[in-house]
Amino acid sequence: MQRMPVPHVVIVGGGFAGLWATRALRRAAVRVTLVDRRNYHLFQPLLYQVATAGLSAPDIAAPLRHILRRQRNVDVRLGEAVSIDAASRILGLADGARLEYDYLVLTSGATHGYFGHDAWAQYAPGLKTLDDALLIRRRILLAFERAEATTDPVERDAWLSFAVVGGGPTGVELAGTMAEIARHTLRREFRHIDPATARVRLIESGPRVLSSFPESLSAAARRQLERLGVEVTTGTPVSDVTADGYRLGEAFVASRTVLWAAGVAASPLGRLLEAPRDRAGRIQVSPDLSVPGREEIFVAGDLASVQQDGRPVPGVATAAKQMGTHVANTIRARIAGRPVSPFRYRDYGNLATIGRMAAVVDLHGFRFSGLLAWWFWLAAHIFFLIGFRNRMIVLIDWAWAYFSYQRNARIILDRD
Ligand SMILES: Cc1cc2nc3c(=O)[nH]c(=O)nc-3n(C[C@H](O)[C@H](O)[C@H](O)COP(=O)(O)OP(=O)(O)OC[C@H]3O[C@@H](n4cnc5c(N)ncnc54)[C@H](O)[C@@H]3O)c2cc1C
Repeated sequence: MQRMPVPHVVIVGGGFAGLWATRALRRAAVRVTLVDRRNYHLFQPLLYQVATAGLSAPDIAAPLRHILRRQRNVDVRLGEAVSIDAASRILGLADGARLEYDYLVLTSGATHGYFGHDAWAQYAPGLKTLDDALLIRRRILLAFERAEATTDPVERDAWLSFAVVGGGPTGVELAGTMAEIARHTLRREFRHIDPATARVRLIESGPRVLSSFPESLSAAARRQLERLGVEVTTGTPVSDVTADGYRLGEAFVASRTVLWAAGVAASPLGRLLEAPRDRAGRIQVSPDLSVPGREEIFVAGDLASVQQDGRPVPGVATAAKQMGTHVANTIRARIAGRPVSPFRYRDYGNLATIGRMAAVVDLHGFRFSGLLAWWFWLAAHIFFLIGFRNRMIVLIDWAWAYFSYQRNARIILDRD
């Protein structure tokens, strides 16, 4: 007896949106192909720990094939999506493969945005991928080595001057942790410099750090950063970045390590579709997350621009997971001939870590900061890590770091 063909769902991106969409289709009568240019799912919220040598790369990533090994209707495909023929319903991959689809789900996320100054990218790397994190780790650790080696005091100061541009959650956690490295982790390890004299500066062009939080928590975050040794500068944008430093207003500051945590731009894949986009390049989707005029193509996660109650749905992991699940449910409803419902984001609250024993938490008006918030943040992040092994390793690493102030992954690799 011949089997009836089932619809083919092609999902691009095995991040939070794509992986959650794939899993939500596990009992659906569909064939799923999950395409990702990397072979792993990455827990981006802990990337800064890899960048600051607290965790190793495999602690926060897990192979997609392994995660999905028990889901029989999924084929994982390593490859980069490069073209979409929407009329013929074909997705093209960089290796020349062409995947025919009945439904296409784009969840390729976001990348860094330099506000039109792409030349700054080489001097001020951003943090989105594991490669970025390893590059940043190398630059931070090498800066201390170069400072130790030089006899020129001006050059030494430049190597010991660190700047993080952008006072959102990523900038805050990077700056806080770098201050901890300088003040505690490296103490007594160098003979010609005192790492504790390093200047760690967080620069935010707006009036306050963590602007998505209530003002009281922004102020608490600033106080906690300053207590950790971070110099916080608000209200002035960085106007230039070069190999030698950055310009803040008119003043040039010599600095060999500038990190970028300021702008976000949607994955370039969105440009392949004829669809309305917002200023960051995100696709403005219909209420059910399909592309206007193309109801077999969906966009979810950081690549989707969704307005709810007059405000944008934030680019966070929870929203991406919820969108991925919603798209899967919509596809199931379409196949079964059931009506589809609009997407609605459920906001469970907002957390940000600042550094050792410092964090802020806003659970719909229930707000707290400091040590308790840090424990809450820690528990939430370990809980949501994929894989039992990863949870155990991160827990052990953190317990060790908590008592010893040490960071286990302080290895400088030969290449970026
Ligand atoms: C440093 C950092 C810290 C963060 N911290 C938090 C936090 O604490 N809490 C929180 O809720 N959110 C946090 N976020 C945001 C959260 O990680 C994102 O909102 C979420 O990852 C978006 O999920 P996504 O599935 O849309 O994209 P992603 O998770 O970025 O996944 C996109 C996937 O698409 C793949 N891909 C891209 N282009 C192609 C292509 N052309 N072909 C094939 N595959 C492709 C990528 O390899 C990747 O696997 C953080 C983000 C960063 C960068």
